[in-house]
Amino acid sequence: MNVLTFEKALKGSRAYGLLMSDLKTGLGHAYIVASGDDDVVDEFFTLVAASVYCENGNSACFECAECRKVLHRNHADVFHINEARDKIKVDDVAKLVASVYVKSLSDRKLYFIHRADLMNAQAQNKLLKTLEEPPQDVTIFLGVANSAAMLDTIKSRARTLHLDVFDEDTVFEAMLALGYDREMSSVAAACSEGMLGKARKIASSPQYAQLYRAALDLMKRLDKSTDILSLDGLAAGQEDMSGFLDVLSIIIRDMLIVQEDESMILSKHVSQDIKELAQKYSPLALAKIISIINDTRRQLSLNVSPLSAIDNLLFSILEVRHKCPKS
Ligand SMILES: [Zn+2]
Repeated sequence: MNVLTFEKALKGSRAYGLLMSDLKTGLGHAYIVASGDDDVVDEFFTLVAASVYCENGNSACFECAECRKVLHRNHADVFHINEARDKIKVDDVAKLVASVYVKSLSDRKLYFIHRADLMNAQAQNKLLKTLEEPPQDVTIFLGVANSAAMLDTIKSRARTLHLDVFDEDTVFEAMLALGYDREMSSVAAACSEGMLGKARKIASSPQYAQLYRAALDLMKRLDKSTDILSLDGLAAGQEDMSGFLDVLSIIIRDMLIVQEDESMILSKHVSQDIKELAQKYSPLALAKIISIINDTRRQLSLNVSPLSAIDNLLFSILEVRHKCPKS
């Protein structure tokens, strides 16, 4: 059982690997941890601090006394600033700067500034002075969602680590480990753009689960043109039409994955339903359906009525299935 929600994925991340190799040779004085995923940055900070102080050879075991202090936020040499991810005022930075020169109890002090991009220019300039002449035993981590909000002078004094993008399998495994079923984990992994926090939000949203089941149901029941009359209303009645088309694309894409590489069936996160559906369509048909779904998106953005857009979509799906049969 992982202590942090995303412990395993974070320990496998490139950003963590780079930091651990720095830790062996000597940590730098400042790092920017760039990610649009605030929750994941928080966890990353905890993991980094545990790794630095862990009594079991920097392993972040979360069992030793040092790791537990980090976890419970009562380690004397670990400082968190702006955990609420609110605005950071120049006074907050002034307090940090004043404490930086107090000697550490161990031989290293870590400062974690959450959402450092919320600092105004005045606060950043105040911090810059410390970054220009940092005390030997201090490392400052800046969690940043929007790099453009950081002064270039700060960026040039910090090493930037990107934490955004995990591959789909990693996200999928992380969602499974959180207890979501394969279907939801797959949807979350596909819609998350590689962001773990976003994936968790999707996986825990009943709305996405409902959309996915509706789209899967639609594909399972769509067999001949007379089916369209009973199915179009069901699809067109979806409140979140763009979300519906998103999950439909994911289903089609997963069907394509099954078609293209049978060896992936075992390892890849596709359900039995997807495998059975995939039997009915050729890879060429599926590729065309993906572009038809994009056309449907375009029609909806041009205010075509949902019902007629969905009618077109369903007819086109059946048409390409017929014209590009499985060999
Ligand atoms: Zn430990």
